[in-house]
Amino acid sequence: MADAVQALLRPLACAHDWVERVLEPGDRAVDATAGNGYDTLFLARLAGPAGHVHAFDVQAAALEETGRRLKREGCEERVSLHACSHARMGDVVPAGVKAVMFNLGYLPGGDHAVKTVKEETLPALQAAAGLLLPGGLLTVMCYPGHEGGREECEAVAALLASLPLPQWRVVRLDSANGSPDAPFLMAALRVPCK
Ligand code: SAH
Repeated sequence: MADAVQALLRPLACAHDWVERVLEPGDRAVDATAGNGYDTLFLARLAGPAGHVHAFDVQAAALEETGRRLKREGCEERVSLHACSHARMGDVVPAGVKAVMFNLGYLPGGDHAVKTVKEETLPALQAAAGLLLPGGLLTVMCYPGHEGGREECEAVAALLASLPLPQWRVVRLDSANGSPDAPFLMAALRVPCK
């Protein structure tokens, strides 16, 4: 199926599409919720051997799975795995990153009790916004359908909506005819300097 159609059917595909347009070989990027490592690998491939990716997760099993995936693809040397909350991103990642991806909620197939919470997500988003270079992109996949999810997603949407023009452009992609519980994507572009 054409990429454009994939992006309409799956908001995460849309996030990938946008990140692909900004992240270049040699750039640095962050995966704030490594999970099974698919997004970490995606970022590592785009950043290339001269780039670097920082990936965060609070679950050891998630980081192990991410590490195995990176190793299989020969990308492990360009990724730092951080076994701590993404709320600590500002202490761990040097400023000057081109893309930051968040995929909120819980790990599919994992422990549903371990999920992102707004008390950690909001400071992490603030840190992420502070790390981005002009022309850099922050993407957040939001899942309002699980317990606590709606509250988190609304807080995320409010925080991103407060990023000021003209330095930021913030968009939200959600299903206009679907369930209010449907996942949605938000993205914030730090507008490039003229
Ligand atoms: N719901 C998504 C997957 C989310 S995975 C989907 O369907 O694709 C979310 C990951 O975030 C999990 O692996 C979880 O362990 C991790 N996580 C939860 N709280 C976190 C935190 N404070 N910092 C970093 N990672 C966190």
